[in-house]
Amino acid sequence: MPLTVHQFPCLSDNYGFLCRDEATGLAACVDTPEAGAILRELNKLGWKLDLILNTHWHPDHAGGNAEIVAATGCKIVGPAEVTKISVIDREVRGGDEVMLGQTRFEVIETGGHTLGHIAYFDPADRIAFVGDTLFALGCGRLFEGTAEQMWNSLQRLAALPDETTVYCAHEYTASNARFALSVDDDPALKARADQIFAARERGEPTVPTTIALEKATNPFLRAPRLAERVGAGGEPDFKAFGAVRAAKDSFKG
Ligand code: ZN
Ligand code: FE
Repeated sequence: MPLTVHQFPCLSDNYGFLCRDEATGLAACVDTPEAGAILRELNKLGWKLDLILNTHWHPDHAGGNAEIVAATGCKIVGPAEVTKISVIDREVRGGDEVMLGQTRFEVIETGGHTLGHIAYFDPADRIAFVGDTLFALGCGRLFEGTAEQMWNSLQRLAALPDETTVYCAHEYTASNARFALSVDDDPALKARADQIFAARERGEPTVPTTIALEKATNPFLRAPRLAERVGAGGEPDFKAFGAVRAAKDSFKG
């Protein structure tokens, strides 16, 4: 039986994710950007919350933990770094597994945005929750890790099956698209950017995305092919990635 995902906006540009293992009816909340909005959605759906799955310690990802536990009695699973702002019940790292009813999530180490960042991948349903590591046409800023660490993290996500549905934690896609067009003139990117601008005009979300779509058009995953454009010709792949990341950090678009 499959995993059902319910996505809704939180704060100014975060997404909240509730997912339910249909075999058992148990639900999980991936990150806790806004406790009030998450509890309202849970109530509306009538789902029973079993777990919070944190991807990293930032307040827009773990800041609602305490209030949601108080309201639901659920348990918290996350990387050790989350203890900076919240208690956790189970510490996990890359290679661990987390069960939600009959749904099995693999924990993937995706450090870079924060050192201990992780992603959750459900291989049976080909669903990945990637927090602030991979965005539609973007990737997380390097607040704590190095370009090499983030590049390796992104490669682990890029190695997931092409059809994997990727739930990113922010709606940053239109600004990511403007940057992407400044470093890449690939026709597939141009076509996708047009669709993104139109979707945002209509107020529609551009999340989730897929691994195939990101591999084809995301300038951070395509960094080795853009190396010359960003002044990193002949450098190792992670350096090309680092140069694209640096260009995005200073992009005024
Ligand atoms: Zn973050
Ligand atoms: Fe965030």
